[in-house]
Amino acid sequence: MNQTDLHDVIAALPVAVLAVDGQARVVAANAAANALLGDHLTDRPFVTVLRHPVVVQAVDSMIDPARVMPPVPDPSLAAVESGGYRNRVIISARGRDIPVEITVSGLPGREGALVVIEDSSGIEEAEQLRRDFVANVSHELRTPLTAMMGFIETLRGPARDDPSARDKFLAIMEAETGRMNRLVLDLLSLSRVESEERRRPAEAVDLGILVRSVVATLAPQAAGQGVSISVEGPDSEAIVSGDPDQLTQVFHNLVENAVKYGGSGGEVTLRLERLAREPTLRGPAHAVSVIDRGEGIESIHLPRLTERFYRVDSHRSRQQGGTGLGLAIVKHIVSRHRGKLRIESEKGQGSRFIVILPVRPDRR
Ligand code: ADP
Repeated sequence: MNQTDLHDVIAALPVAVLAVDGQARVVAANAAANALLGDHLTDRPFVTVLRHPVVVQAVDSMIDPARVMPPVPDPSLAAVESGGYRNRVIISARGRDIPVEITVSGLPGREGALVVIEDSSGIEEAEQLRRDFVANVSHELRTPLTAMMGFIETLRGPARDDPSARDKFLAIMEAETGRMNRLVLDLLSLSRVESEERRRPAEAVDLGILVRSVVATLAPQAAGQGVSISVEGPDSEAIVSGDPDQLTQVFHNLVENAVKYGGSGGEVTLRLERLAREPTLRGPAHAVSVIDRGEGIESIHLPRLTERFYRVDSHRSRQQGGTGLGLAIVKHIVSRHRGKLRIESEKGQGSRFIVILPVRPDRR
């Protein structure tokens, strides 16, 4: 391969690639490398382009293994099949630290090395999210567990012969175990929805019927709390492609929240509407609004409500047996259905959670 071929091949690659010659001088760099490391990379010594000792050592040993003093190579470098090295490092480029995966390999038929740099910021972010999630779950489980351990100790000791204290503590323990159980069920549900998110549900679901059945299930409990639930809109022909169990869960969670947090208004309304064209879905849609007339939510909280474990008032959510996962599950299910979740609320005016789903295309 001559120099021109090498340039052409490197230029066509979608990841950042640099080629260096036998003097460790950069002889070719593609647009992705420029985007990552800056312009004017060619004709410069490699060490001035990417100043990471482990990578520089890998490049040197690729050019001339004898030139590098032991340990050769650096123990943190993993050998790859092609005879090169691969490593995850943090590089400083364009004024910021970027986690990257670097592969250094030889150039066929000539002296020099090929350096491939893959930006792994996305992977690092995903890993950080996963770590945060595990930490949050542990915290959520530990709090009730610690409380339970305290109650068990008290029941064994000071409250042993006090029936009224015993009943009170057992009732709290029942509520706490119930909440832990719901947390585990919600976690399982979230992971199931996430794993299916790319598979679009195909069953024909009538939202009018589905929503009314959710209301029938929750109405008695709501009535017990002084809240009436009504449904407005057509009771048939609001057909979407969906997973009926998951859509039931969506409206169950939203109506439960409306009763729990917005119940002070005494009424919860579900409104079904057909939208001739929903711009964000680029087509006709069905919208179901779950409207309460409770105390509403301050606007600063709105963008974060669907994050896992985000609550406006943690104490209140826990007291109500909440897991902090309800809206995260709703968001994932709606997104699996290629729909949108919109939240509108004003402090003191109540809230409106709107689920917008594309109309099922006519299959005739
Ligand atoms: P939780 O288990 O805490 O109810 P969710 O994910 O369902 O978790 O809701 C997150 C938070 O959003 C709740 O803790 C509450 O602060 C707020 N919220 C949800 N629905 C409403 C509503 N209808 N009115 C006021 N606040 C709400």
